[in-house]
Amino acid sequence: MALFRGRKTVFVDSDILVIGGGMAGCGATYEARHWGRDLKIVCVEKANIERSGAVAQGLYAINCYMGMQWGENQPEDHVRYARNDLMGLVREDLGYDIARHVDSSVHKFEEWGLPIMKDPKTGRYQREGKWQIMIHGESYKPIVAEAARKAATEVYNRIMVTHLLMDKSKANRVAGAVGFNVRTGDFHVFRAKAVIIGAGGASHIFKPRSVGEGMGRTWYAPWSSGSAYALPIQVGAKMTQMENRIVLTRFKDGYGPVGAYFLHLKTYTQNGNGEEYESKWYEHTKALVGDYIDHHPVPTCLRNHAFIEETKAGRGPIRMVTKEAFQDPHKETVGWENFLGMTIGQAVVWASQNIDPKHINPELSMSEPYVMGSHATCSGAWASGPEDYAPAEYQWGYNRMMTVDGLFGAGDTIGGTAHKFSSGSFTEGRIAAKAAVRYVSDLGRDQPQVSEKEYQDLEKLIFQPMENYRIGRNEITAGTVSPSYLLPIHGLQRLEKIMDEYVGGTSTNYMTNGVMLNRGLELLTMLKEDMNHMGAEDLHQLQRTWELQHRILASESVTHHTLFRKETRWPGYYYRGDHMKLDDENWHCFTLSRYDRETDKWAMEKAPVYHIVD
Ligand SMILES: Cc1cc2nc3c(=O)[nH]c(=O)nc-3n(C[C@H](O)[C@H](O)[C@H](O)COP(=O)(O)OP(=O)(O)OC[C@H]3O[C@@H](n4cnc5c(N)ncnc54)[C@H](O)[C@@H]3O)c2cc1C
Repeated sequence: MALFRGRKTVFVDSDILVIGGGMAGCGATYEARHWGRDLKIVCVEKANIERSGAVAQGLYAINCYMGMQWGENQPEDHVRYARNDLMGLVREDLGYDIARHVDSSVHKFEEWGLPIMKDPKTGRYQREGKWQIMIHGESYKPIVAEAARKAATEVYNRIMVTHLLMDKSKANRVAGAVGFNVRTGDFHVFRAKAVIIGAGGASHIFKPRSVGEGMGRTWYAPWSSGSAYALPIQVGAKMTQMENRIVLTRFKDGYGPVGAYFLHLKTYTQNGNGEEYESKWYEHTKALVGDYIDHHPVPTCLRNHAFIEETKAGRGPIRMVTKEAFQDPHKETVGWENFLGMTIGQAVVWASQNIDPKHINPELSMSEPYVMGSHATCSGAWASGPEDYAPAEYQWGYNRMMTVDGLFGAGDTIGGTAHKFSSGSFTEGRIAAKAAVRYVSDLGRDQPQVSEKEYQDLEKLIFQPMENYRIGRNEITAGTVSPSYLLPIHGLQRLEKIMDEYVGGTSTNYMTNGVMLNRGLELLTMLKEDMNHMGAEDLHQLQRTWELQHRILASESVTHHTLFRKETRWPGYYYRGDHMKLDDENWHCFTLSRYDRETDKWAMEKAPVYHIVD
């Protein structure tokens, strides 16, 4: 390993290790200091917390705010809302826990300098919708990161965490994590008493609509590589609802969000012939999902369903009618600013395609699927609930602790709790940190120990792709294709193709079935075998390799969950062609999985859904 013979190993000891410095990670770091004044709190991030995660380029709205100070909503209302949108299946205890604390997080953001728009008549925060408030949010992330930086003992930027470390003596107890610095190549061993994962969801596991020159343009952040799922999966933590991938209606090609347009500008959609189409699909949808179609608001997936069916029927493209709203200069300004503060790419796409929404109704499209635990879906780890509210079956220790001792999570990491968004993820980070501080203090002298052999073996494994490249490139006689290694981009495209064609991506109109899923699993197994032959030219490619490893594990989990749930619970997110109907009798439940890395096998089970709120 000539290039890295001088590689250093850096040891970092901490009480609490926070992996990922996005919204949840910053919330966890901030709150850990509040409860653990004398603790060593370390945050490790693969980018730089100043501008990292899904909020990196700013937001225009905070999508989860109750407004309890003005009696606008109560936490129970939010639970009902999320439950309805997820077709009945949410962890109500976890959702309630976030909703009752989220307002205080938003008040902190304002205190720290985030400009929140005010309604000039009432003086209250300007609402975009029932749950959303509008912000000037270009600097949202730097503001939140500053609070985390001041709270942390140390922040380690530019370190990609690849694996968790387990306790030498207690098999199911976490003891830290390892990773490498993506700039210097140093190997990092983080020893910790408790670990909180806030590493975001997964994009690029399904083939994106934008390929070739457009590759990298996705709705979800392209750097969200599924570490939040792969890290706990690797060590046997139970996962839930991984089949519940998200598909979004977005402005075509730039993936600009539609929320402010629907809610604030009151724009609406039409088919290619200029007709309203959603009502046409009412009977058809009712036959699939029964009364859920009569719920208000109509669940997000069912609105997607009407869009997909209308397009399949040959009456696309679906357009957003902006021409009327944009005649009002205020609304026109808001329409453009909405993108300039959040998704500049959409404004650029419109400019480049001569689309002025005042004169042309822009096209919408349905995104490829992503895996997230904080948006309108709830994939993630199965976590213990709040002591004062969770049913006994949902409690095995500390709030937000996974089924692995000492391993906590928040934000996209934790399953069963949709609609937390940026503010709810930060809040969940705070909740997890408070519990983690208590866990650490309860440990007393019984502290986890890492095994030297474990991290030394991992070091070899992590850097092996660079060795493969160094040796394998000598076998190239012409061009760039080596007979003995595979590049990360090739592996990524192979993964995306498998997921797209077999697990319900765009090219099958989100359709899959048992036969296809089983074939998908076979192909994923072959891809996993080939990952031993990955070649990484430099540290950047080494990071790509490990991101791909994490994406593959997350994808395998999605596929197993999709196979296990024998119904179509969320038409518009995906379809099981062999079980096209929602089946409340057999599947009004959570799906749980556990991966065993010794045997490479997945065990699936059902868990009950408790409805705590009326
Ligand atoms: C396009 C888009 C638009 C959105 N719009 C809104 C909105 O308008 N309003 C709203 O309230 N919410 C919005 N959200 C939701 C909000 O951004 C998320 O809910 C929130 O960011 C989730 O927080 P998180 O901490 O779980 O993940 P993130 O904030 O994404 O943070 C994850 C962090 O982990 C780091 N990381 C990942 N893997 C590793 C690893 N292996 N090692 C070390 N670090 C790692 C990442 O770099 C990142 O910093 C939007 C999300 C998206 C994707």
